[in-house]
Formats: sequence, structure tokens, C-alpha cells
Amino acid sequence: MAQTIPKKAGKGNGCTLYKACGGCQLQNLSYEEQLRYKQVKCIRHLSRFGHVDEIIGMQTPLHYRNKVQAAFGVYRGRIISGVYQSKSHRIVNVDDCMLEDETADKIIVTIRRLLPRFKLTPYNEDTGRGFLRHVLVKRAFATGEVMVVLVTPANLFPKREAFLHELLRQHPEITTVIQSINGAKTSLVLGKQELVLFGKGYIEDVLCGCRFRISARSFYQINPVQTEVLYGKAIEFAALTGSETVLDAYCGIGTIGLCAAGKAKRVIGVELNADAVRDAKQNAKLNNSANVQFYCADAGKFMVEAAKAHEKIDVVFMDPPRAGSDLPFLKSVVTLAPKKIVYVSCNVETLARDLGVLCKNGYKVKKMQPVDMFPHTGHVETVVSLVRKTPDIYVGFKIDLDEQDLTASEAHPTYEEIKAYIQKEYGIKVSSLNISQVKRKLGLEVGESYNKSKSDNAKQPQCPPDKEKIIIEALKHFKMI
Ligand code: SAH
Repeated sequence: MAQTIPKKAGKGNGCTLYKACGGCQLQNLSYEEQLRYKQVKCIRHLSRFGHVDEIIGMQTPLHYRNKVQAAFGVYRGRIISGVYQSKSHRIVNVDDCMLEDETADKIIVTIRRLLPRFKLTPYNEDTGRGFLRHVLVKRAFATGEVMVVLVTPANLFPKREAFLHELLRQHPEITTVIQSINGAKTSLVLGKQELVLFGKGYIEDVLCGCRFRISARSFYQINPVQTEVLYGKAIEFAALTGSETVLDAYCGIGTIGLCAAGKAKRVIGVELNADAVRDAKQNAKLNNSANVQFYCADAGKFMVEAAKAHEKIDVVFMDPPRAGSDLPFLKSVVTLAPKKIVYVSCNVETLARDLGVLCKNGYKVKKMQPVDMFPHTGHVETVVSLVRKTPDIYVGFKIDLDEQDLTASEAHPTYEEIKAYIQKEYGIKVSSLNISQVKRKLGLEVGESYNKSKSDNAKQPQCPPDKEKIIIEALKHFKMI
């Protein structure tokens, strides 16, 4: 890999919470192994569209999260705060986390310690009593501004002034404090009602030379260091000349569109979250970008209307959530026929599904670049550039039904099929354990029951080299590598 990577950044790494928390799915691998795992995952899902460039890793893959959320509760009479254990509602107490911003972690620990002093208690979901549900901290890495959001079930705040005074005394770096009221039984952290208790109610950050205002509820990329790399690639792929009309779909607070605005004639942004659109409009002013307009709408519906109105769009940036895009959106993109599409994705499976649709309908993938936005977790971010094969308006829209079925892009042979193939071609028996060992060595995903920790595997007999070679041949045959 091109970057200087700490040799064994993920290895145990002193994180005593690794198993209890479950948030870092890849922490049993070194950072280099994690990157290889992600590269292979991309190749497995995307190689049918062309070459996948080498993943861009993070120079120092630690404390990259600029947004930290902590749930508050009581365990054995003590106040605890931290993350919910994976797939459960139990809180794991966190003092510091190797992924999270260190300032944010310190602020959360301070709040935990201050609560008893002011006779404030965590909220109890069963009894409906108590004061504090969650704390959210966002820190702008470039400007140093810090937002603290205290989530409470009602708009009461006993001893508010004294509590705030002490919090700000201990953490003068905090620039704004918000109380978010969330009384609902919901897994959503923030409520709709917000009270600004201190400062301006938002923070500002700088990315790719542009300034952005960030509210409590709007989406903002959580790894700002790698976001610059990601946006840099997206804008490089668009190769704008200054004459284009650009659409930034799923634009959030307008970051990609505003970073591209200086190189385009006009930028149109569309986003569903009203708070994010409000921020995006402010951000256009903040950056003196007069050639940008933002709309609050469902991206699919917006595109259908744009297609009906025969809007002329030259380049589409699209950055949908994990579920990927939808057919109305993709269909309308095909009708509008932009020369280029730059697809930024945080889910390689839905990306493969949507690329399948675009490639059947007049587009060709030109470049695919994974960027590691989430070290130590299993998530992979990829930026893909597509170009139209023909300059004319494309007639008709083709789609395979299974293209919309996620499992189709994940289809791969079972262990029994691999064993049967090896038996037939080489007359040799291999075990499922042998196959899983080779897959693991290559950084491929292995099934649940084979997904043992490395130390468990070390006690197992290892796959002999001759069998390993044959299994690799079989995996090649099934296009898994
Ligand atoms: N491009 C932005 C945001 C990407 S996250 C950035 O890099 O920061 C995806 C965004 O899509 C979120 O802001 C989410 O609110 C928005 N979104 C989700 N579903 C949508 C839909 N159907 N139509 C438009 N926007 C949507």
C-alpha cells in the first residue's frame, strides 16, 4: 500500500472493549490486512465492471471520528456512558476509544462525572424518569470548534446555569451547547426540538478550501482527513472545465457540490433532510458561491421531475446512503443522459447493484477508487466514475429483476460447491476448514461458523501448501479472486 501505516495498528492495540463493544469488526487484523480485506471485498463485488484501483489507506488510522455519541445509564449504582453493545441495548462504558476524537471523549467523561455533583441522573427508559439520555459531541478538525448536544426527555434542565458554567470552565474549547428534546421511545438519538444554551448553535469546518456550517442534525462525513481524499478523487473524476451544469444528489450540507462549484458553470443540489438543506444554503453564502442552488426533496422524485422538464445536466455526483439509489432516480439519470456520473458509495453491495443498472443503460465504468474512511470497521467507501458510451439520448431502459436483488451481487459458491469442483478437477478432498483458512489468508470473508478468532485458528491444523494451491485455483475458477 502507498501509505505509511503503523504496522499493527489494530492488533489488540490495548483496546480492552474490543469484544464487549463489537464496533470494530476488523480489529483482529493489522491495518495492512484490513486494507487488503477491503480491497478484496471491492474486487469481489466490482471487478465485473473493470479494474479496481488500490485502496487509499489512512496515514494514522486513529481517533479519526469527529462525531461521538454516548448513551447514558446506570450500572450497579454507578453512572456509565458509552456505546450500545453490538445488536443489544446494553451500554458499554467508554472512557476513550481509538476511533473517536480524544477531545470529544474527554468532554463526555467530564459530563458523566459532573452529573452526581449537580444531582442529575441518567434517563431510565423503563421508568421514564431521569434527565440525560445521550450526549453528542461534534468537533470541526480544521477550526477546532466543538458542539456539545445534551439529549433530554423534556425541556427541563435543573441547575442549568451552574452545570454549563462548570462544563465550560473545564472545557473552554466548547464553542456551542445545545439541548435536544427527545421524549420518544425511539432508537433515534436526537429529537426535533432544539434549544441553544450557549454559542451559535452550529459549528463551522473547512474542507478542500471551503467552509461549512454543521448543525446537530445534519449529516457530515465523520472522517474529515479521508473526506478530503475522497472528495479530491470525486472532483478529479468529474474533470470539470467550467462550462458544466452539475447535479449533486444526496448532497447533505452541500459539501461535494460546493467544492466543485468553482470549477463548474452551475451546481444544483438535492437532499431530503431539511436541516441539511438549510445548512447547504448557508454554506453557499459562506463560500460566495452564487452559481449553486439547493432543493429539499427526495432525490428520485426530483430527478423524475428534472427528466420531465428536459433539464440539461452534464455531470451527476451521487452519494446515496447505505441502501443505495432507487430505480426512479437511476431511470431519470438515464433519461437526462449526463456525460459523466461520479458515484460515491459507502456500501459496495448496493453500489454493484446500481452500477449494474447504469451499465445496462448506456454507461461504462471508467475508474473505481476505494478510500478507507472507516479504519478498523468493515465499512468500505468507493468512488466510481462512469461515462456515457454514446452521446445521443438513450432510448428504453433495461433492467434485470435480480439486479435489484442484493443477494445477486453477493452470489458466490458454497463450500460444498468448491469441494465438489476440487474433487472433480483434481481428485482431491479438501475440508471446509481448509477453504476457510485459505480464504482468510487471502483476506476474503468467511462464513459465520468459520469466522473464528486468529488465536482459535492457530490451534487448528493448518491447510497443507499443495491443497492451498488447489483451493486458490478453485477460487479463481469461481471468480472469487
Ligand atoms: N454528499 C454528502 C452526504 C452523503 S450521505 C456528504 O458527503 O456529506 C447521504 C445523504 O443522503 C444524507 O444527507 C441523507 O439525508 C440523504 N438522503 C437519504 N435519502 C435520500 C433521498 N431519498 N433523497 C435525497 N437525499 C436523501
